[in-house]
Amino acid sequence: MINIPKGTKDVLPSESYKWHYVERIARETADLYCLNEIRTPTFEHTELFLRGVGDTTDIVNKEMYTFLDKGERSITLKPEGTAGVARSFIENGLFNGAMPLKMYYITPVFRYENPQKGRLREHHQFGVEVYGGAGADTDAEVIKLAYTVLKKCGLSVKLYINSMGCPDCRKKYNDALKGYFADKLDKLCPTCRERYGKNPLRILDCKDEGCKALCKDAPKIIDYLCDDCSAHFKKLQELLTDCGVAYEINPFIVRGLDYYTKTVFEFVTTALGSQGTVCGGGRYDNLISQLGGTPTCGVGFGMGIERLLMLMEAENVIIPERESVKFYIATMGEKAYKKAFEIVSELRDKGVKAEIDHAGRGVKAQFKYADKIHAENVVTLGDNELETGVAQIKNMADGSLKEIKVAEISAYFGK
Ligand code: ATP
Ligand code: MG
Repeated sequence: MINIPKGTKDVLPSESYKWHYVERIARETADLYCLNEIRTPTFEHTELFLRGVGDTTDIVNKEMYTFLDKGERSITLKPEGTAGVARSFIENGLFNGAMPLKMYYITPVFRYENPQKGRLREHHQFGVEVYGGAGADTDAEVIKLAYTVLKKCGLSVKLYINSMGCPDCRKKYNDALKGYFADKLDKLCPTCRERYGKNPLRILDCKDEGCKALCKDAPKIIDYLCDDCSAHFKKLQELLTDCGVAYEINPFIVRGLDYYTKTVFEFVTTALGSQGTVCGGGRYDNLISQLGGTPTCGVGFGMGIERLLMLMEAENVIIPERESVKFYIATMGEKAYKKAFEIVSELRDKGVKAEIDHAGRGVKAQFKYADKIHAENVVTLGDNELETGVAQIKNMADGSLKEIKVAEISAYFGK
C-alpha cells in the first residue's frame, strides 16, 4: 500500500461539504466587499519568493519546496499566496486598470514544516489582496472582512494588531533590538543568534520558549514609529472601533514575512494549543516596487482553512450537510431497472437529486444503501408495479407509505 505523503491530508467525500461551506462563506463575503477572485499558478520561479517574501524568513530559508524542472529552471511550490498575486499584478499591468484593485484567492500552500496538529506541509488559504489604498481605511476594511468570515463561520477569536512601521522606523527599531539582545546572545536559540546578525526583528517571531521569555522585555516597535506611521496606526484603531471590531495591541506580532510595512494583524484563538493563529496579514507598501513594479501599496491576509475547520470543530459549530437525496428508486428485475433508470435521469434533468442502485443488489440491500445516503423517499419498482402502474413511496423519516402512479413519479418529484 502506498501512503499519503507526510504532512498532507485527503478531504474525503464524507467531509468535503465542510470545505464547501467555509469556502462559500469566504467567497460570498469577499463578493460583498467587492473583491474578485484571482487564480495564479501553484508553482512560480524560485526567484519570486526570494525577492518577494524575503530570504531571512523561515518560509524561504527552511520551508520551501524547491526543485529543478526538466529545463533546469528553479521552481518553487507556492509557500504563500501574496507573491504570486504581486507577480501577476505587475506582469499583467493591472495597475493600469481600475484602482484600487481588490482580489481574493483560495489556494493550496506548501511548506516543509514539522507536521503537528494544525501544521501541515500542504495547507489551504483563503487570502485577500487589496492594491492601491494607502489609508488606514483599507487596512480596517480588510480586517473587517476577515473578522466577518470568522464570525459567519461561528468562531469567536481575538484580534491582535501592531505596526511594523516603514523602513525608517524599522532601522531605528532594529538598532534598538540589537542593543537589547547584545548581552543575551548566549541565551538565544542558535537560529535566533543567526537572526540577530541578519534581521533581529525575526527573533520576536521565534517559537522557542527561551527566546519568547527573553522577548518579553524587548523594546517595542510602536515606540519607534515615525509621525506618519504613528498617525496611520492611530487612525486604524479609530476605524476598527467605528466598524465594531474589537482589538488588542500586541507589540510582538511581527509576522513571518519580510514584506510587511505599517499594519500587521493576527486573529488568534487558544482552542488549538500553540497553533492558534487562524488568520494573519497586514500592509505591504514596498512589495510591488521590490519586485520591479510601479510602486503600489497593498494590504491583505491569509486565512488557514484547515485551522479554521479544526477550530469550528473544537467549538462545536454545526455545519449544515449537503442537500439530501430527495428520491431513491429501489428496483427488482431488469425491466424495472430500465424504467427506474429513465425516471432518475428525467428527475436529474429537472434538478431533483435522485439515485438508483449501481451494484445489482437485492431490494433489502438497496434500502440499506438508501438509508446510508440519507435518501428522503424510496420508491420500489418491480414487475408487479410495472403491471399495475402503481407503486409505493416510503418516507424514510417516519416510515409512512403512500401510493403513486408509476407514470407520475417524475412529475410528482419534479414539481
Ligand atoms: P504560524 O505562526 O502558525 O507558523 P504563519 O505566520 O507562518 O503561521 P502565515 O504565513 O501568515 O502563517 O499563513 C496564514 C495562515 O495560514 C496562518 O494564520 C495559519 O492559519 C495558516 N497556516 C500557516 N502555516 C500553516 C501550516 N503549516 N499548516 C496549516 N495551516 C497553516
Ligand atoms: Mg509559519
